[in-house]
Amino acid sequence: MKTKDFSLNVTGTNAVCPVGETTGRHNIATGAIPVLSCEGACIRGEIARLAANRVAKTPGFARGCHGELFAAPDSQMARWVKQAPQVVVIDGCHLRCHGRIVENLVGPGSLRSFDALSRYRRYGEIFEIDGVPEPERRAVAEDVATWVNEQLRAPACTAGAPSAGCATNPTSPAKESRCGG
Ligand code: SF4
Repeated sequence: MKTKDFSLNVTGTNAVCPVGETTGRHNIATGAIPVLSCEGACIRGEIARLAANRVAKTPGFARGCHGELFAAPDSQMARWVKQAPQVVVIDGCHLRCHGRIVENLVGPGSLRSFDALSRYRRYGEIFEIDGVPEPERRAVAEDVATWVNEQLRAPACTAGAPSAGCATNPTSPAKESRCGG
């Protein structure tokens, strides 16, 4: 699959999410590092989401809302993520659906992009979340979260490893890979 850069048109709104405003403002004040995930509907997205929830509990990190980042650009939540010196995105697979969007919204070099599937390399034929028993999917997500935390603590990134948390930029070529590792 080869796709050129493209844009989406988003309908504007005057609506505000009160708790999103409070949380965004609080996280700007504390300097927390935002953690986002791709939130894909399949087992890969679910594992990424669970792992992001886990990483966000690490001191100094907090869970970011991709919805407000993408669709409410003037919200405090979006402001927090866009001005953060480091932003963590855990995608479900090598398509990096959220990482490829977020890298165009945040400061150069601030994105730490992870491909969760590259860690566990299983479930290639499964779409449904329920295709993997809950205790197993939680254990896999826990392992992904531990791996992400280790990468975030590592002093330097290996060049050419954007799926393992190295800072990326929009001109980085996407790596060809297959779902299911
Ligand atoms: S990164 Fe993979 S799992 Fe996540 S939304 Fe995209 S295709 Fe789905």
